[in-house]
Amino acid sequence: MSEKISVLISSKETEARIKVLADQINQDFAGQTVHLLGILKGSVFFMCELAKHLTIPTTMDFISCHSYQGTTSTGTLTFSKKPEHSIEGRNVILVEDIVDTGNTLSVLIPMLLEMKPACLKLATLLDKPSRRIHPEIKIDYLGFTIEDLFVVGYGLDYDQQYRALPFIGIVEQDSEGEKKN
Ligand code: 5GP
Repeated sequence: MSEKISVLISSKETEARIKVLADQINQDFAGQTVHLLGILKGSVFFMCELAKHLTIPTTMDFISCHSYQGTTSTGTLTFSKKPEHSIEGRNVILVEDIVDTGNTLSVLIPMLLEMKPACLKLATLLDKPSRRIHPEIKIDYLGFTIEDLFVVGYGLDYDQQYRALPFIGIVEQDSEGEKKN
């Protein structure tokens, strides 16, 4: 069974937008240090592109939690990697690939706040606000708002495939005509 992928946001557009976000972070944290905390694995491409444009001192770490199988949320979270480095007293920017229902972040953010960072900001490449069930999630640095579509590429997967696509794409119908979202 094969999926068809169409381009939603090009590589050029994605990278230009990430540069704008990095410039904003450089301004907001001028004279300070930031600690990027990426959520594996989806945030990796976004975080690397963002970090490339940060001119302020920057450190990086990753955490891992899982809530999705295929295109459907399981509604549960499993944390498989906690921060390796202490975030206490640091300016932490949590880097996410996409905010969907907000379930993941509604668990993760309180857990990170307990670790007493100096501040905790949220950067996400994509946002699907129409799917949100946690309106309390505040995004500080947003790449793009998208419709309720299942997207892949630029770190985002469909059953571990398509992460390495340099653009953000939509999974379209497979060979049997089954819609992917
Ligand atoms: P939430 O907890 O906000 O519902 O879901 C967040 C996570 O679900 C994201 O980090 C991502 O792993 C996954 N997710 C949500 N929407 C999509 C999507 O359109 N495509 C892919 N590949 N993953 C998604």
